[in-house]
Amino acid sequence: MRQEFMEVLEKARGSHRLERHELIVLLQARGEEVDALGRAADGVRAASLGDEVHLRGIIEFSNYCRRNCLYCGLRRDNRKLRRYRLTPGEILAAARKAAGLGLPTIVLQSGEDPHYTAPVLADIIRRLKEEVGVGAVTLSVGERSFEDYRLWREAGADRYLLKHETADAALFARLRPGTTLQERLLRLKWLRELGYQVGSGNIVGLPGQSLETLAADILLMRELDVEMAGIGPFIPHPQTPLAKEPPGELELTLKVLAIARLLLPRAHLPATTALGTIHPAGRRLGLCFGANVIMPDTTPPPYRYYYQIYPGKAGMDDEMEATLVALKNMIHSLNRRVGRGPGHAPKIQGGMNNEV
Ligand code: SAM
Ligand code: SF4
Repeated sequence: MRQEFMEVLEKARGSHRLERHELIVLLQARGEEVDALGRAADGVRAASLGDEVHLRGIIEFSNYCRRNCLYCGLRRDNRKLRRYRLTPGEILAAARKAAGLGLPTIVLQSGEDPHYTAPVLADIIRRLKEEVGVGAVTLSVGERSFEDYRLWREAGADRYLLKHETADAALFARLRPGTTLQERLLRLKWLRELGYQVGSGNIVGLPGQSLETLAADILLMRELDVEMAGIGPFIPHPQTPLAKEPPGELELTLKVLAIARLLLPRAHLPATTALGTIHPAGRRLGLCFGANVIMPDTTPPPYRYYYQIYPGKAGMDDEMEATLVALKNMIHSLNRRVGRGPGHAPKIQGGMNNEV
């Protein structure tokens, strides 16, 4: 192992702070250095958060999207995709089923679909909390107005996932036409002001991305002091302009995840579905490289099939019950246990979430 690598890793483990050039040293890890990075991240995860793996049921309630992100299969110009919307009743039924299977928290995700007005979604959130008894509701419905976010927070939404996707402003603008990184970050600031537990994150392996950009991604997540960060590989979708680009690499994604854990010791980091899609053991590996959350798909079939952000999504054809049994077995085989209760982000009174 490089001497420099070992020194930087030691510093990260001890202080959870690194400069950009030090992040690059870790991102360049190869061979046994990658294993050492994983072990360090796993140790930080165990010391800061314990052995619980939190399961959050995700309900993908609409695949309509007004945006045209170059990487995403839900982009509005993908005319081949059959579009669907779940009714409020179907969303509540899906949440009831998830609760019955022991999933205490729900993530509501969709394309950017203005069909769901703020009051309609607020009513769904209220009913999820009051009628179904959902422990925590996370929203992931893209960029909306401050007023919309405020209404949903008042209705009982606890968390919001809005990945910054890439910290390179020029790349962001190219990949997400009509939107800017600045606008995205402004929304993350609003969400923080409104008292949400805030989630950001990035895509690893986007065309045009560099190790410098990935280092900037991790520093940005630290600067935002996120309670959650979704880190997953880019997977090309055949009906997008990026169809012919190579997918993000498993090893690079695991390195980014592990480094994020070193710098964000208390954040909830999912072993993402995208990780499970590029490699059969992807989610298991994610849990060994610092992750402590899994978000099983609880979207009712047949809709689940049409939420095609990227092809070959892990767990698409599986029965929910069987998927959960397999996930729990996998968690136990790692000597970890399934988290109980809502699994809120551990807050530190008067301090940054990720200081220890
Ligand atoms: N529309 C909302 C938004 O963009 O924030 C939420 C839904 S969007 C489908 C959820 C996430 O999917 C995005 O944050 C993005 O990181 C991820 N995603 C989209 N296309 C992807 C692809 N081809 N490969 C990997 N991740 C992708
Ligand atoms: Fe729409 Fe989100 Fe996909 Fe972009 S990433 S096209 S906003 S669903």
